Amino acid sequence: MMPSKTLTALQSWASIARWTVFGTLACVLVSLAFNTVYFRDLGEPALQRSLVSATVLPILLGVPFFLYTGLRVRGLTITNLRLGLVARTDSLTACLNRGAFTAKVTTQLARRSRGALLMIDADNFKAINDVYGHDAGDEALTIIARSIRTMLRAGDLVGRMGGEEFGVYLPDVDQMSAEAIAERIRRAVNLAGFAPEGQQRPLAVSIGGVAFDRAASFSELFRIADQRLYGAKETGRNRVMVVHRDDHPVIALKRSA
Ligand code: GH3
Ligand code: MG
Ligand code: MG
Repeated sequence: MMPSKTLTALQSWASIARWTVFGTLACVLVSLAFNTVYFRDLGEPALQRSLVSATVLPILLGVPFFLYTGLRVRGLTITNLRLGLVARTDSLTACLNRGAFTAKVTTQLARRSRGALLMIDADNFKAINDVYGHDAGDEALTIIARSIRTMLRAGDLVGRMGGEEFGVYLPDVDQMSAEAIAERIRRAVNLAGFAPEGQQRPLAVSIGGVAFDRAASFSELFRIADQRLYGAKETGRNRVMVVHRDDHPVIALKRSA
């Protein structure tokens, strides 16, 4: 297998040209060196002819060969990148899928010790499917995902955790900012235009979240945010509940144990 550095280097047209020129040049040099040694005893005219053929043949064969392999590797690299993207993306909402979101947030958590995790669940979503059908439900999900994305900064992450539930990771925010962003998301979903069968039908989400300012694991943050989400559901839906990790009762219990 070709090393991944080589794959990356072969992605651009400039690198294909370099690969073709230097590959061919290397073949010419090896061929010249070989013929110089091997035909040394044949006299000047024969040696000169052998050196001409040692230069021309590698060029005739090497250019198409290196060009072809360069183009093939480029094609495979692009296909590989596309497949990777498809494997990480939720096809309906174009958010990260659960696996990719979890992996990316876990990587970020290893580097940063400040931020927030939000869990967002659509309110009474089953009723939308029941009344307007599954396709309208799908459309509502894409609208919710879009509303979430419009409220995020570059570097924030959004993933579909399954069904009508989304996760949002906000690096480098404190509890107040996380709460404000969650509130903006909630309002954006409320205001988003969803009109199945021509009837305006407001959408709503409940949001639970946890802010942290020292190292935390994904599973711990997920558990706290999920509990807050269900707190938001229990207290009436269409609301935001963001706690600080240190104020969460489960954490306090663990620390005192
Ligand atoms: P709650 O406010 O308590 O969250 O109520 P809910 O109706 O949103 O929650 P419930 O878990 O009862 O129903 C979730 C629904 O979401 C049921 C399921 O059919 C629907 N759903 C999950 N994934 C999809 C999807 O990809 N497309 C569509 N159209 N519906 C989906
Ligand atoms: Mg729901
Ligand atoms: Mg749900």
